[in-house]
Amino acid sequence: MRIDKLLANIGYGSRKEVKGLLKSGAVKVNEAIVKDAKLHVKPEEDIVTVHGEQIEYKEFVYLMMNKPPGVLSATEDHYQETVIDLLGLEDSIYEPFPVGRLDKDTEGLLLITNDGQLAHQLLSPKKHVPKTYFAVIEGEVTERDIEAFRAGVTLDDGYLTKPGELVILKSGPTSDIELTITEGKFHQVKRMFEAVDKRVIYLKRLSMGSLQLDEELELGEYRELTDEELEGLK
Ligand code: URA
Repeated sequence: MRIDKLLANIGYGSRKEVKGLLKSGAVKVNEAIVKDAKLHVKPEEDIVTVHGEQIEYKEFVYLMMNKPPGVLSATEDHYQETVIDLLGLEDSIYEPFPVGRLDKDTEGLLLITNDGQLAHQLLSPKKHVPKTYFAVIEGEVTERDIEAFRAGVTLDDGYLTKPGELVILKSGPTSDIELTITEGKFHQVKRMFEAVDKRVIYLKRLSMGSLQLDEELELGEYRELTDEELEGLK
């Protein structure tokens, strides 16, 4: 991998800024000063220092995003903005992708990583990883809905869902609820409410397994997972 790309991707500035850093003689690879931005290095093997400090190269990135509405949970799209575009990591060495999908209009917790094994573990239907959503529903959500979701409801394609745990926070002309499900069928929360003749008008994911949305993150913001958060997921 080119030295300028490596340094830019781990946060030493833009490719142009990194060029300046290299020119200044601040960068050494295996003890030798390197000024050539095109030099290829092996990040796992070569010892790269900047101003005498060894850089930390990680194989994997783990980011938590508070997904904003209007953005696709995809890596790339010709026409629409994706959550990966929001990271602003053009030709990143990490090639991160979102773990599972949220609808374009859904907000909230989205894990973004390049760790395929962890993604597989979290998405595997066999693992039953619980996901909790907050939603605003048109109409009054009642005890009957709680019971229906507990028993499982039949979606429009005939699929009978696994039990979901519905908690009513506020019931009225519009209702606030939290719903925990252990599967991830297409539009599942919206279709579960359709099955009881109700409509989701706002949807936000709060958690996935042990990982909780950091409410300090504004819509569109992201941060790295803490070591504890990552351990909890594995
Ligand atoms: N269920 C939905 O209906 N939409 C989502 O984005 C996530 C779960």
